[in-house]
Amino acid sequence: MIVHKFGGTSVGDASCFANVADIIHQHYHRPGAAETGTVVVVSAMSGVTNQLIAGARAAAEGKDSIYREIKASLLNRHLTVVESLLTRTPQRLEVAGWVEDRLHELERFYRSIAMLGELTARGCDAVASLGEQLSASILAAVLCERGMRAQAILATELIVTDDHFGAATPLMAPTRQRLQTRLKPLIERGIIPVVTGYIAATEKGVITTLGRGGSDYSAALIGAGLDADEVWIWSDVDGILTADPNLVPQARTLDQLSYSEAADLAYYGADVLHPKTIRPLMEQGIPLRIVNSFNPTHPGTLIVESPSPNRQRLPAIISTTGLSLIALGSRDDSWALPLAARALQKLSDAGVDVLMFSQSFSEHSLNLVVREQDQAHCLKTLSQEFRSDGPDARYHLGVKEQVATISVVGVPHWNENGIVSHTFRALGQCGTRVIAVAQAATEHNVSFCVPEDQVADTVRFLHRELGLENHHRVGR
Ligand code: ASP
Ligand code: MG
Repeated sequence: MIVHKFGGTSVGDASCFANVADIIHQHYHRPGAAETGTVVVVSAMSGVTNQLIAGARAAAEGKDSIYREIKASLLNRHLTVVESLLTRTPQRLEVAGWVEDRLHELERFYRSIAMLGELTARGCDAVASLGEQLSASILAAVLCERGMRAQAILATELIVTDDHFGAATPLMAPTRQRLQTRLKPLIERGIIPVVTGYIAATEKGVITTLGRGGSDYSAALIGAGLDADEVWIWSDVDGILTADPNLVPQARTLDQLSYSEAADLAYYGADVLHPKTIRPLMEQGIPLRIVNSFNPTHPGTLIVESPSPNRQRLPAIISTTGLSLIALGSRDDSWALPLAARALQKLSDAGVDVLMFSQSFSEHSLNLVVREQDQAHCLKTLSQEFRSDGPDARYHLGVKEQVATISVVGVPHWNENGIVSHTFRALGQCGTRVIAVAQAATEHNVSFCVPEDQVADTVRFLHRELGLENHHRVGR
């Protein structure tokens, strides 16, 4: 059995849904697939989770017009897909009605958040879970329309977690049991379960989420719990590459990786893979493939316990844009580590992911890198927290600039110079202004933060300088 997971860009609009349906159709009709089964896991349409959360935050601040607009645009976007892909009237009306009901529910949710004037982590998960509910139902209907037997399933029935809202931890034993009792019988009857990624529920049934980008993790949990033969993650690039192909058209696909190499890359922010995805698969030796739904014949990247000794072993450059550098500090020398600890704890409670931070005693400050969409929420959370110290508190807080992070994730013994010194030499030549650095103990990984407008040139330069464009094989 194969678990196929489709990310947000793979279901970004009606034509993408149609393309995904074609891919599933092909796999469903492969020799042997009917006997062993196919499971589909799907993310929300691209950008939808961000919008849902932005609406909830606006509601908490009483900005009614913003959340109403968000609701209207989400309704419109999903109905457009339904109307263009479901041609049989009764099915179309049924799914459209269901979508409308969910979005009315969303508006009621927003209104109650506005009334309370507060957004809890639990409330945020309930709102954020809606995107996957919509995309899974629509995709299941599209598959049925194309003659496949498919059924949308809420992962709240399958994946059991603790109640750490915003990034809940799965409880594997009950999850496995539910997957076996709920999904196995469907698969045996030739039905394709179309499961919502990202979302789960506590033992009592309260909705939780697995963390942003968590649909990959859902697919891994489902694959592990069903003892799948393989898990395939379909995104919009040809696997894991030596650099972002949008920045470096010559970037090359890493054809095979070990679980631990892939975990390293994911940990450093490779967008195509959520860092928690590897472990459940590694524990059971289930192969993972990263493939491109827009280029489905490309083999992509295969991740296994022992990759072939002849594969290419190359470092990868991972870049993340759309980030803000926020500084919190004191105007005098009262800055101390407990203040930094307090700030980080508050941000974690408020659901703000801090991607990188540096703490400088000489500057009396803490620098934080967060996603742009979390910037306003991050500033609000910190100003509330530190205002409570009283009017005399001498803190300053603000956005310093828009930044990007770049990580170079190497392989041991890749070349005699070592990745880190090679990288720094290249940065010097390129003239990149490095704002902060984080280096792993292993000496073959390094991450740094640069001004956003320098990221494209820097990544291109590094890719060339590290020799990643040559077509010779670099190995041990
Ligand atoms: N829709 C969720 C998010 O945007 C989960 C995912 O896409 O993997 O974070
Ligand atoms: Mg993703």
